[in-house]
Amino acid sequence: DVIGGETTLADVPLREDLRGRSPYGAPQLDVPVLLNTNENPFPPPRELVEDVVAEVREQAGRLNRYPDRDAVALRTDLAAYLTGATGVAVSASNVWTANGSNEVLQQVLQAFGGPGRTALGFEPSYSMHPILASGTRTEWVPAPRRADFTLDGGEAAAVIAERDPDVVFVTSPNNPTGQSVGLADLRAVLRAARGLVVVDEAYVEFSERHSAVELIEEFPARLVVSRTMSKAFAFAGGRLGYLVASPAVVEALLLVRLPYHLSSVTQASARAALRHSEATLGGVKLLVDERARVVDRLRELGFSPVPSDANFVLFGRFPDAHRAWERYLDSGVLIRDVGIEGHLRVTIGSPRDNDAFLAASEHVSEEIV
Ligand code: PMP
Repeated sequence: DVIGGETTLADVPLREDLRGRSPYGAPQLDVPVLLNTNENPFPPPRELVEDVVAEVREQAGRLNRYPDRDAVALRTDLAAYLTGATGVAVSASNVWTANGSNEVLQQVLQAFGGPGRTALGFEPSYSMHPILASGTRTEWVPAPRRADFTLDGGEAAAVIAERDPDVVFVTSPNNPTGQSVGLADLRAVLRAARGLVVVDEAYVEFSERHSAVELIEEFPARLVVSRTMSKAFAFAGGRLGYLVASPAVVEALLLVRLPYHLSSVTQASARAALRHSEATLGGVKLLVDERARVVDRLRELGFSPVPSDANFVLFGRFPDAHRAWERYLDSGVLIRDVGIEGHLRVTIGSPRDNDAFLAASEHVSEEIV
């Protein structure tokens, strides 16, 4: 008895190129141990929560007014964080923000991709990149990684020279496989590219490698570095992503962004969260230590974990990865079947989450490895 409930997707006048596609979505299941979406397991500290509440209270009295369309105060704060984190003098005009880095990437494709244009990515990688390409009618060009999932700068440059894409995605550390791409390989990619190169650094705080932000001065017309507060900053629910690029790239994004896309509540909450970045980022070290513990134990149990610079680990081999995923679920541990044959991906959680995962892994290894 839902209004219009009889109508199916086949009945609505959908774009032909979207027919038969599946929406992005990790199952959101009610399971005790959630290790499937690479979230930070630690809730924000109390001081941060208090600060967000105070900011939101203040904003609430002004909700009749539109927010700052250009989020200048927030971009200034992020520029200060980036300057400290990368050693590169980043200004507010180098930073652009949106509702999660997914929206940032969508705006990038709206401005630099689109009908008649192509976007290339090295697979397996973040599955939203091709979905965002599809939504913006950018043709997706998949390119391979090495068998061990690392990216070879020379091979990447060759495929870019051959396919000449308008946008190139390089995810570093790569989701779902975990390895970072070094600056030498990135330079090879940037030299080969005519179009825009987007380095997706959603997990960069978990890595010790240099950030691609260091290369913006060298490639100001072509390099974009996207980042997020969803992972290391423990702010996934706050929805705040950003990118770093030359001011000209930011200017291009203004042509496609919706006016007032970032609510005053989001802007103020993110600024409050940034004021506590020392506390939230303090948890990163613990997660990195836990990552080493999980990897070591998985090896002892006979699994083959892929070396990771991120807050997750891809591991195998399973004769039937989906069946193994179900076994974990039966043990109350939700991990991710990312569609890579013989492999599953687990997010590094709190020590207790990881204990539960490792205990379940013991059972699974006895059963099927
Ligand atoms: N890039 C990568 C590589 C990711 O894994 C994710 C989140 N899963 C995102 C971007 C998007 O995150 P958000 O929109 O929360 O910033």
